[in-house]
Amino acid sequence: MEIPESKMENIIKISNTAAKKLGLSRINFVFSLKKSLGEDVNVNYRKVHDGKVWIEIGPKALKPFGKKDVYHEMMHVKDALEKNLDFSDNLKGETLRMKIIASIVLNFSVDGRLDKMKLPHIGKNERLKITADFLSKKGVKTSRTETRRILKKLWGKNLKKKEVLLSARRLNSVFF
Ligand SMILES: [Zn+2]
Repeated sequence: MEIPESKMENIIKISNTAAKKLGLSRINFVFSLKKSLGEDVNVNYRKVHDGKVWIEIGPKALKPFGKKDVYHEMMHVKDALEKNLDFSDNLKGETLRMKIIASIVLNFSVDGRLDKMKLPHIGKNERLKITADFLSKKGVKTSRTETRRILKKLWGKNLKKKEVLLSARRLNSVFF
């Protein structure tokens, strides 16, 4: 499936600027639409060290996919490149639940760092809301106050892989 031309032009324009600002201008980004993703976005950075990254967007995620989202995905790419933080590969031995929780942890790190850099980002409250909706959709019950407390502390933290997993375990302990 193809992304409509005008939307594609806009995404490429934003991504070129974002790549420059984040020091990723050597990476070749390929954007495509993937029906099965629904409202999700998937980044494949297995070839990031060869300079290639694929960003697949679900049809329902395409319309709102804008500046904030491009910067968000590119920050994940930066983490994969500079800190080997590719949770799809690095968390191979972990359960799907832990992978999902680790991705929540990383999202707070990523958006908070963009916030500190004064670059386009999803705000803290919006991210908290997205996370709450996401967890309820997955059927995960949480202690709301504890969850928010842990997540707020992660905002903008420059986490290493070990710390991502530690935080994910802490978060998992307040989920039931
Ligand atoms: Zn993310």
